[in-house]
Amino acid sequence: MTMETDANRMGAGLEGAEGAGGPAAADRAEAVATPRRTLDIVRRHGFVFRKSLGQHFLTDSRALDRIVEAAGLDKTRGALEIGPGIGALTERLAQAAGRVVAIEIDARLIPILEEVLAPYDNVVLIHADALRVDLRELWRTRFRDLAGVSAVANLPYYAAAPILMALLESRLPWERLVLMVQKEIADRICASPGGKDYGSLSVAVQYHCDAEPVCRVPPGAFVPSPKVDSAVVRLTPRRGRRVNVSDEKLFFRVVHAAFEQRRKTIANNIARLLGKEGKAEAVEILRGCGIDPGRRGETLSLEEFAALADALAASGKVTHSGFDSPIG
Ligand code: SAM
Repeated sequence: MTMETDANRMGAGLEGAEGAGGPAAADRAEAVATPRRTLDIVRRHGFVFRKSLGQHFLTDSRALDRIVEAAGLDKTRGALEIGPGIGALTERLAQAAGRVVAIEIDARLIPILEEVLAPYDNVVLIHADALRVDLRELWRTRFRDLAGVSAVANLPYYAAAPILMALLESRLPWERLVLMVQKEIADRICASPGGKDYGSLSVAVQYHCDAEPVCRVPPGAFVPSPKVDSAVVRLTPRRGRRVNVSDEKLFFRVVHAAFEQRRKTIANNIARLLGKEGKAEAVEILRGCGIDPGRRGETLSLEEFAALADALAASGKVTHSGFDSPIG
């Protein structure tokens, strides 16, 4: 295992120590992901869980099997893991993939990870906040020589949506994103138009990827147990876009506005973007796109949002200025 102390050193290139997988000794040792070994590691290091960092460590080998299987890794492929914790998933990724890069924010976990992952010469550990890492630079220095790269992670609840959006907005050619998130977030990611879960997160993710649920994971699969259910989703970025829009930021501004007040009609929500004579203009533009102005935003498909955003862009009355977050 190689170790980097911060994200700034990532440009230094490969140390050349990364091989094609862990040794037989590692296969013989007890896996990290059992309640017994997890508690043993935690106690031996005097580690105290930090809720604010979403620290719930996976101790269920069946859940790990499903995650690793969904990622479709082999020794020619790489995995980026965000938040390795004490290495339960990292260990399995090291066994399945050619190279693993794991980014952990909590300095107290670094010596534990160094110990647990010592048998694996194909793991690079980076001590950094994943939200501040330059993913393109990381890809260039760590992954460029591999046949494919997936992001595979049990994400901290508090930062799951921003980390997911950072992965997607990096525009890197991820093969797959296999992510464990809070069940409620998984439902929103995979939702279809018409349901209560469908919202700006669904549209933002499905703009980039095909999204499918993999499995549900109960609180008892973690130490300590979270209060909510978790679920694994698999996202497969599309080579071409499902929709093409003339102004992507405006598209996301329109999506955001459409869901801002879910009980209101799409005409009322869009009217607020148009200013004074907004309602009449919104109705006209919506009709021009073949969308009933009385519908609610949550019934519009990705294709309808794209048509609406393009019509608003063409009207010259709405711009994307001041808007940069697709999820709200
Ligand atoms: N992968 C481990 C597992 O499955 O057992 C741990 C998952 S735990 C849900 C989330 C991990 O993400 C914790 O180790 C936490 O310290 C780390 N983390 C939280 N915020 C982070 C951030 N911004 N960047 C990198 N790691 C982060």
